[in-house]
Amino acid sequence: MRFYGEALRQGKSKRTFDSQILRHISPTMHSAPPAIQTPSARMPFQVDFQQAPLLVIWEVTRACALACRHCRASAINQRHPEELTLREGKALLDEIQAMGTPIVVLTGGDPIQRDDLEELIAHGKSLGLRMGTIPAGTPRLTRERLASLREAGVDQVAFSIDAATAERHDAFRQVPGSFDLTLQGARWARELGIPLQINTVFSRNNLNEFEEIADLVASLDIVFWEVFFLVPTGRGTELQGCNAEETEALFAKLYTRSKTAPYVIKVTEAQHYRRYILQQNQQDRGRALANRGDATEVHAQGGRPAIGMSSKVVNAGSGFCFVDHTGDICPSGFLPEVCGNVRTHSITSVYRDQSLFTALRDPRRLEGKCGRCEFKAACGGSRSRAHAVHGNPFAEETTCVLIR
Ligand code: SF4
Repeated sequence: MRFYGEALRQGKSKRTFDSQILRHISPTMHSAPPAIQTPSARMPFQVDFQQAPLLVIWEVTRACALACRHCRASAINQRHPEELTLREGKALLDEIQAMGTPIVVLTGGDPIQRDDLEELIAHGKSLGLRMGTIPAGTPRLTRERLASLREAGVDQVAFSIDAATAERHDAFRQVPGSFDLTLQGARWARELGIPLQINTVFSRNNLNEFEEIADLVASLDIVFWEVFFLVPTGRGTELQGCNAEETEALFAKLYTRSKTAPYVIKVTEAQHYRRYILQQNQQDRGRALANRGDATEVHAQGGRPAIGMSSKVVNAGSGFCFVDHTGDICPSGFLPEVCGNVRTHSITSVYRDQSLFTALRDPRRLEGKCGRCEFKAACGGSRSRAHAVHGNPFAEETTCVLIR
């Protein structure tokens, strides 16, 4: 494979590069498998999104000591008594694997508030799943706990950084010391040899800090930077997201960084970054190539696994599925329409057949300028943002500069 040879020329190990392929096409937290395994761990671009999501995010708990201003989950202090149990969680992982999904991310709240997190990771690994998790920067995060996660087989950990200074980060997280604890956790992860991802949510709140945040993230020996564009859900409704022009300007900065970054930059909840890249490729390499409409192929001409494109666009309910702490199944954590519950429904049946899920995979349902757009198959806009802004998941993307 072209990227593999490129990675070897750059001195990356096979393990690192395999993980980069997976992260390159994944919508959020990703994993770094020691080897490609089958059947569940087959190359994700072979996943038929009508049959299975590329990625399932399971919110193992909503408990968290932080109170981040953008928190989708509006996380709470205490664990909920009706959280999925270890037994239920293992059964869920069994079904996810059988469905054909290769990647599972255990999120929160703060997933390390669950003492059985390692058992869940180990069970997922025994099934051949790629397992990631996203600890919060709190005093619970110790080197010993990270070592324990590594022993359980975790493929990758992600930490969240949304500001370049402790003062601003802690103000955002609403807990003093979180910034330093997060950076300490990141250093420990690298010392332990755990591939490291950083997640950053951009909104009006931190847009003017982009360069400082990007420089900080780049200094952390990461393999992946996942850049989220705020969706106004949960506590995030109190923040202002970027408008179309600000979003486009941020795309340009990310695209410039992605050309030289030795890590993958992935954009989440801004599917129109795919449109932006197609247009850039159109300018850079000629209209004939871009007109083929295959973002991955266009991207591949650049020879760098650093733009973070998926072979197919991943969107709520299309390549993506979310399970909340009590088992509710939603198209995304940012599109919290409950379509079933794993205690009473098969996640496979919900993903494949539930009416909202099937509609979200049908580009003919798109409305407004997204419905008329030539990029709708390659992009489609954030269905989560459409739902949050318009109350209609098929409405047009409000943060896209295209006027059609
Ligand atoms: S109009 Fe909609 S489908 Fe077209 S590029 Fe913008 S967000 Fe994507």
